[in-house]
Amino acid sequence: MKYIFVTGGVISSLGKGLTAAAIGALLECRGLKVRIQKFDPYLNVDPGTMSPYQHGEVYVLNDGAETDLDLGHYERFTSGELSKLNSLSSGQIYETVIQKERRGDYLGKTVQVIPHVTNEIKERILKGGVGVDVLITEIGGTTGDIEGLPFLEALRQFQHDTGRENIIFLHCTLVPYIKAAGELKTKPSQQSVAKLREIGIQPDILVCRTDRPIGEENRQKLSLYCNVGIESVFECRDVTDSIYELPVMLAEQRIDEVVVKRLGIQCGPIDITPWREIIRRIKEPKYKVRIGVVGKYIELQDAYKSVYESIVHGGIANEAHVEIVRIDAEDLETQGTAALEGLDGILVPGGFGNRGIEGKILAVQFARERKIPFYGLCLGMQVTVIEFARNVLGLKQAHSTEFSPTTPDPVIHLMEAQKDVSLKGGTMRLGVYDCQLTPGSRSLEAYGAPIIQERHRHRFEYNNDYRTRLEAAGLLVGGTNPQTGLVEIVEAKDHPFMIGVQYHPEFKSKPHKAHPLFAAFVKAAIQKSLGSC
Ligand code: GLN
Repeated sequence: MKYIFVTGGVISSLGKGLTAAAIGALLECRGLKVRIQKFDPYLNVDPGTMSPYQHGEVYVLNDGAETDLDLGHYERFTSGELSKLNSLSSGQIYETVIQKERRGDYLGKTVQVIPHVTNEIKERILKGGVGVDVLITEIGGTTGDIEGLPFLEALRQFQHDTGRENIIFLHCTLVPYIKAAGELKTKPSQQSVAKLREIGIQPDILVCRTDRPIGEENRQKLSLYCNVGIESVFECRDVTDSIYELPVMLAEQRIDEVVVKRLGIQCGPIDITPWREIIRRIKEPKYKVRIGVVGKYIELQDAYKSVYESIVHGGIANEAHVEIVRIDAEDLETQGTAALEGLDGILVPGGFGNRGIEGKILAVQFARERKIPFYGLCLGMQVTVIEFARNVLGLKQAHSTEFSPTTPDPVIHLMEAQKDVSLKGGTMRLGVYDCQLTPGSRSLEAYGAPIIQERHRHRFEYNNDYRTRLEAAGLLVGGTNPQTGLVEIVEAKDHPFMIGVQYHPEFKSKPHKAHPLFAAFVKAAIQKSLGSC
């Protein structure tokens, strides 16, 4: 068993998660079994209760764990399926340690960061990678943060427990260009590595984020001052077209060779053909479409991360360049639907809370009436049902009880079992559930399999009391949960493509294997742009 620990220095947002994911992808291209996990130093138990402004998207795993969006990168870049064991926060550790202390498990000892907290961290390293050749663990935050120290201390101890030859410390750092000096600067990287060495960690590999070539001289400087072999100093240039260029960029510098050599792994040569093909499709598209995403966190880069990525995957599958137009749902309420004109497809993603809800309903109406391909995810499916009930069935006050608890027509409502939720964290319908697709449905055609599994993260549900009326009005049920009868998919009958899903398909799409409904949605948008829709 071999381990790669990924840390970050100088600033956050260096693309540590993407670097970890890309290295995982390259090791898979050499035939190795890889898993990637993330340790986050914050005190929240998980990001499930954090605002998108704080944390971006909450990424949901099959087992229902609500995790950091970097786990989305890991699952998109590698084939390994992740579980709650692969996502750890300080909050979880302290929760466990305190529970153990209350149970008396520590037999009267004083409970301390070292060894009790660090032991807990080390245990999770061991548990997170059972059955793989290489486990990659990314440590969130920036070297030097107070809250990150127990994690780094645990890594320092781990190298003694496991043997230095089985471990790579990979440090992602920034080599900024200073305009006034007209130079790239290596000093921040030197200081960040010095900080790590103070803690007892010597990086083996440096991955330097930069906006231009770092050059031989800087490479030598970094090698000398950071005590890292010159062959282990890598450049990570800002990628212009796509994050999927990263594996190829790093493979061209032979990072995979340095990794397997240092870890003493016997494996086959690298074959990165699949990644080259993805890039070819991105750089030489045959079609061009514009898809509008109507949400309430449109100004945030990370709030709909997996949705944006899945749209890109749908483009890759169809050899299309997709221009994503971000539309603020509230603007539709105040300024009308002009922003929706000229789009080839409209998507309404998931969400919580009242803000922008009427704008989302307007987007559904616009797509339905103008016959523009439409795709609703989770809340996006719920607003599809509301719009249909209001404007096709004539139930003018139809709503979800999330937004109007006293509506006379609660077409979306809470299930009995969900009603007395006093705790907010981890209490939604979370993780994978089966869905049986309806014979003859567009969804069955897209998936090509009668039973599918998709990930959920929501409280409210389609109200089956309205099913007969909604279906008679043309909003068909495309799939249901076989155990509970809950409606999972709605499809408009007289429309080129109008699908709403109660689950989150964006968590299961990959660049080389687009989610079937994202691929079908982009295909419908291409047809619309070609005028055949
Ligand atoms: N707010 C809705 C619910 O809880 C939808 C959630 C979502 O889109 N993830 O059911």
